[in-house]
Amino acid sequence: IPWTGEDDAVIATNTDATECKRSAVELGYWKDDYIVYFAKHVDRKAPEINRGYYARVKAMEMFIHQFLERCGTKCQIINLGCGYDTLYWRLKDTTQAVGNFIELDFPSVTAKKCHIIKRNKQLLEKICNEDGEVVIRSGDLHSDGYHLLGCDLCCLGEVRRKLEAGGAARDAPTLLLAECVLVYMQPDAAQALLEHLAATFPRCVLLLYEQCNLGDKFGEVMLRNLSVRGCALAGERYCREPQAQVQRLLGAGFETVRSWDMDTVWRALPEDDRARVEALEMLDERELLQQLNSHYAITVATRGELFADLDLNA
Ligand code: SAM
Repeated sequence: IPWTGEDDAVIATNTDATECKRSAVELGYWKDDYIVYFAKHVDRKAPEINRGYYARVKAMEMFIHQFLERCGTKCQIINLGCGYDTLYWRLKDTTQAVGNFIELDFPSVTAKKCHIIKRNKQLLEKICNEDGEVVIRSGDLHSDGYHLLGCDLCCLGEVRRKLEAGGAARDAPTLLLAECVLVYMQPDAAQALLEHLAATFPRCVLLLYEQCNLGDKFGEVMLRNLSVRGCALAGERYCREPQAQVQRLLGAGFETVRSWDMDTVWRALPEDDRARVEALEMLDERELLQQLNSHYAITVATRGELFADLDLNA
């Protein structure tokens, strides 16, 4: 079973995602002043890939914004399988920097992220303690309000210990991010993690972005791709049809669950947003984007009344 411990093929998905994000940022799809530090040289990706990533980042941002609107900045964000995500720094540049931001990934990924942060003043200056210090303890980075922690998300004991070390508070409104992560975990371990998180945080929102509708021909190809990375089982179990994802999250203890495929999200984007990005580069085959978008979904699961009305069209 390739699911215990760190897996090179899974870790490589982070490089892939970071390079795709940088490609789109360079073309002007969205603004991210920090992605350059995490992906040095990238080849330009195909237009449908750039647009797909735009929809992904935009969808996550939309719900992050709704979460923050409801609870203000006295909250925490826990980024599961964070990879080289730059959200912490992007929020710091707004009025929406949150009280505590915890990032978890395999130790080899967090060690590299830590190294990049330490080497780049623009990243480091946004996470220092008041006395200008960043503490590295057992390979993990700790500062006031930002914690970068190495662990295998399949090991619940480790996750618990790390969340405690990062100062996660049970009673704080909590945003859990799982952007293309759970699909790479052994399905039972991912389910145990979800159950643990739902039981721990009574006021929370989980944003889950991953493959869906894998039951058709195009989906079969995606499943084969996943199986190269040893994760076909998770795809088989939860990504064949959207309802499976909903049932799984309700079963884990979340109270409301809604899921939208990315084609629906794309069509729900404000007209001027879509027109702007459609003018950035030519896309000859629109069906290609539609096909790609209809095989990814964003699923929003919540606990607590405060978040029950989160919606795509809010
Ligand atoms: N969430 C980031 C984003 O969307 O840009 C990174 C996504 S990348 C496709 C998947 C990430 O999940 C990788 O950084 C990988 O190391 C991490 N990951 C997968 N399984 C994991 C596990 N069992 N424990 C910790 N991290 C894991």
